[in-house]
Amino acid sequence: MIVTSSDVKFVVDTDRCCGCKVCVRRCIEDVWHWDPEKNCAVPKYPDECVLCYQCEMDCKNNCIEVIPQVVIKSDPLLNKPQYE
Ligand code: SF4
Ligand code: SF4
Repeated sequence: MIVTSSDVKFVVDTDRCCGCKVCVRRCIEDVWHWDPEKNCAVPKYPDECVLCYQCEMDCKNNCIEVIPQVVIKSDPLLNKPQYE
């Protein structure tokens, strides 16, 4: 599954998702939600992503790839995100 916004592209290997919902709990911006019909986690609100990479780092099955579509100029966990 590929989900894009103007700032980020998510590539999700849904076949490998085990349903642990770690990404849903870790995301500070509430981007990730569990989809019971698809039986996998999905980045439902990609526009809210601040590119902190917690979801990608914490998925133990390596299902998530976060690909910025912008140039990141500051640490999003320390400052309001600044993009080019
Ligand atoms: S952390 Fe990975 S395996 Fe767990 S629900 Fe999210 S995408 Fe699926
Ligand atoms: S990179 Fe950070 S803000 Fe974006 S979806 Fe993942 S955990 Fe949420």
